[in-house]
Amino acid sequence: MRSSMMDCPLLIDDILVRAATEFADHEIVTQLPDKRLHRQTYGDMAERARRLAGALHAAGIQPGDRVATLGWNTYAHLEAYFGIPAMGGVCHMVNIRLAPEDIAWIINHAEDRILIVDDVLLPLYARFADAINVERIIVVPLTGESVDPAYTDYETLLADAPADFVLPAKHEDDACGMCYTSGTTGRPKGVLYSHRSTVLHALTSSLPDNLDLSYNDTVLPVVPMFHVNAWGLPYSAALTGAKQVLPGPHLDAASLLDLYAAERVNISAGVPTIWMGILNALDAEPDRWDLRADLRMVVGGSAAPESMLRRFDGHGLTLVQAWGMTETSPMGTSGGIKPAVAELDEDARYARRATVGTTVALTQTRIVDESGRLAPRDGRTMGELQIRGPWIAGSYYHLDNDRDKFTTDGWLRTGDIATIDADGYVDITDRTKDVIKSGGEWISSVHLENEIMGHPGVAEAAVIAQPDETWGERPLAAIVTRAGQTLTDADIRTHLLARLPKWMVPEAYVFVDEIPRTATGKFSKLALRATLQPDE
Ligand code: AMP
Repeated sequence: MRSSMMDCPLLIDDILVRAATEFADHEIVTQLPDKRLHRQTYGDMAERARRLAGALHAAGIQPGDRVATLGWNTYAHLEAYFGIPAMGGVCHMVNIRLAPEDIAWIINHAEDRILIVDDVLLPLYARFADAINVERIIVVPLTGESVDPAYTDYETLLADAPADFVLPAKHEDDACGMCYTSGTTGRPKGVLYSHRSTVLHALTSSLPDNLDLSYNDTVLPVVPMFHVNAWGLPYSAALTGAKQVLPGPHLDAASLLDLYAAERVNISAGVPTIWMGILNALDAEPDRWDLRADLRMVVGGSAAPESMLRRFDGHGLTLVQAWGMTETSPMGTSGGIKPAVAELDEDARYARRATVGTTVALTQTRIVDESGRLAPRDGRTMGELQIRGPWIAGSYYHLDNDRDKFTTDGWLRTGDIATIDADGYVDITDRTKDVIKSGGEWISSVHLENEIMGHPGVAEAAVIAQPDETWGERPLAAIVTRAGQTLTDADIRTHLLARLPKWMVPEAYVFVDEIPRTATGKFSKLALRATLQPDE
């Protein structure tokens, strides 16, 4: 029997309409390239997004067509996040940190018809312009300088567009957004989000045990809008009415801390590299910034060491872990303190906070071992983390041989090695390809890195496997020392032997100036292997 409820599809349009009616005067602040602050309201944003939708429609964009963006976190990018799906198009956020040839490959693979690009990113565009074939380039004049007539000026486009464009009807399963994975192995893979998955993700990620968002909050996503939808914050903040502060191209610690203080930010989100920079700035000048006492930072994208949580606590600020991937929209798990954990002693509480937390509502996670058996939720048995749910990808865009990424019973194979404990805390111990297999036992490179980074003289550490005649593989640790510190292999070994079983402690250490990073700010084990093991 059908229910007597209305048949209302879940659409991004409704987030837009809600923002315009309920939070018309709530602010969106953007730090421009010259550091001036651009201010608009959700009311302004909704009107401009509707104009963009009308302009794209007038340009011949059809439902399902892809419109790409090449932009920093700004008001214009936010307008694209809403305006493109509102007219039925697919907003394809292109990662500006990828190599120009990869960007061109992605744009061609997605068959993007239009590219919206920040004027400050035109030099990047020039590096792949000849390799792509889009119909039109729309330039956002963030600097205020006039736009080359070879391109369409975004502001003129909006000014000439109708303010009353009627948003076309759509199905909630229609695609609205698209991101490509960073492609650490093989070509990047495209993930298509739907209106339904995006709305449900926005709703659930706003819950108190996840991002905990409300119209009283001020959110600053450091995580870029060109990578995994800025963790969905543009949508969840608009849904809840939270004020948004968008940092533009200035992601250095001092600029971010200035913005936190000036705009009274209380929630921010980014990768560990960002928080490492912020910690170092706070350690150097603890009294320089007047931050909100309830400021909390969500960290994800790669593992954050427990020492980082402790150091932030020392500054009276809270770091919360979350885990996800391009394929999971991205929120899969997030940290919080369940009642049973609140009763534990301090070290045990930190150990739980150093995990990636518990599974987000409406999704399910499980661990499957090497032989395909379901692992117990004992916090010890490692295996591949698998996930399913309404905002988890079930296939990739135009990729035929993608079945090995999914199980036959409908779960996404994440490629992450993890444990889940009896309270549901998920601990990511590695990527399948990074885990070290020594004498038949798995050594987690992430846990080793975290322990090494717990040494006060260490700034950063990354661990890779190296072939070993006796053990198959043994860990090799690359270490960056903190400024002014000198360390030896013996210092690190002594530190580790006090914390880990002897067989896990590396024999080999190299001290390096920096750890190479991927386009998304994660340690690049691939590049590290190429430098440290050129003959492998
Ligand atoms: P991407 O699709 O580029 O966001 O990469 C997703 C991958 O980042 C995941 O499969 C994990 O390997 C890693 N990752 C994301 N969040 C975390 C986290 N909190 N701790 C450890 N690894 C993470």
